[in-house]
Amino acid sequence: MPRHLLSMSDLDAAAIRTILDTATQMHEVQHREVKKIPTLRGRTIINLFFEDSTRTRSSFEIAGKWMSADTINITGKGSATSKGESLRDTVRTIDAMGVDAFVIRHGASGACHQVAGWVDAHVINAGDGTHEHPTQALLDAYTMERRLGSLEGRHVAIVGDLTHSRVLRSNLISLRRLGAAVTLVAPPTLMPSGITSWAHRDGFTVGHDLDAVLGGEGARPVDALMMLRVQKERMSGGYFPTAREYTVGYGLTRDRLARLTDLNPEIVICHPGPMNRGLEISADAADAAQSLVLDQVSAGVAVRMSVLYHLLAGADGGADAAARVPRSAWAGSAA
Ligand code: ASP
Repeated sequence: MPRHLLSMSDLDAAAIRTILDTATQMHEVQHREVKKIPTLRGRTIINLFFEDSTRTRSSFEIAGKWMSADTINITGKGSATSKGESLRDTVRTIDAMGVDAFVIRHGASGACHQVAGWVDAHVINAGDGTHEHPTQALLDAYTMERRLGSLEGRHVAIVGDLTHSRVLRSNLISLRRLGAAVTLVAPPTLMPSGITSWAHRDGFTVGHDLDAVLGGEGARPVDALMMLRVQKERMSGGYFPTAREYTVGYGLTRDRLARLTDLNPEIVICHPGPMNRGLEISADAADAAQSLVLDQVSAGVAVRMSVLYHLLAGADGGADAAARVPRSAWAGSAA
């Protein structure tokens, strides 16, 4: 296992498999009356969130608590960064207290990579700008596998605001490593630049016509459809004429869902949340039997337990942590 989880590219297929397998065991804790195992007793995990979050932050906190770690939440607004302290000073200050792991969400792509170079603790990327969100990709894979079985040879279509999506970037790596075929669909304005050479290099396909990809003449049947949120907070200009036109072209409407279900009754629908109901996904689709949205949330706790376990207490994580020497001068001089 890597020391940090900054990108899905830190995990090869075997490491992904190990994390997903352990998550299956961790998931069982959720159904116990007493949700507590001693695995991370005595470890301290800092959730440092500079961007808003409901699912990711609470599931990391629950994951740590169920494994008996001490988890502490710090938000950008409530920390000294609001007084002008730099990210480097903030994380080095907390690191000097001897914490074991940082779970970080930050608006800047690459922020977690930087933090990993500044601290002794393990760093887990909980979403950095438009770059990556590896634990989301892991929980998506876990959820889809529970319903579909192995993803090897399955076809996953990822639709929506691809330009701003860290979920997309992590999922592309993860799904390709697990052997799935991937098709991306978005209006040209929400397609990341350089997508053609990227698709060529990483072996996925790209389309602009959602109905053609989902059920057009000769189209490869879709096993899982992942709808991405339109990230209005990251948009500075107009990426599509009106919300209505976006929905008509790229939304999972009730009619589209009905057509899809006729073609493949087993199809599953994912969305990382939070959903813009009525924009990229209709309420009917969000709540349909095919929707795995709440299964994804449930899996989020198990997968994050597994990641924390493997990084902090797994075969190399535990030994590594014990051998760590704090960076602060005080610890050095006391030696
Ligand atoms: N919750 C996910 C993220 O933080 C997806 C989203 O916000 O659209 O990236």
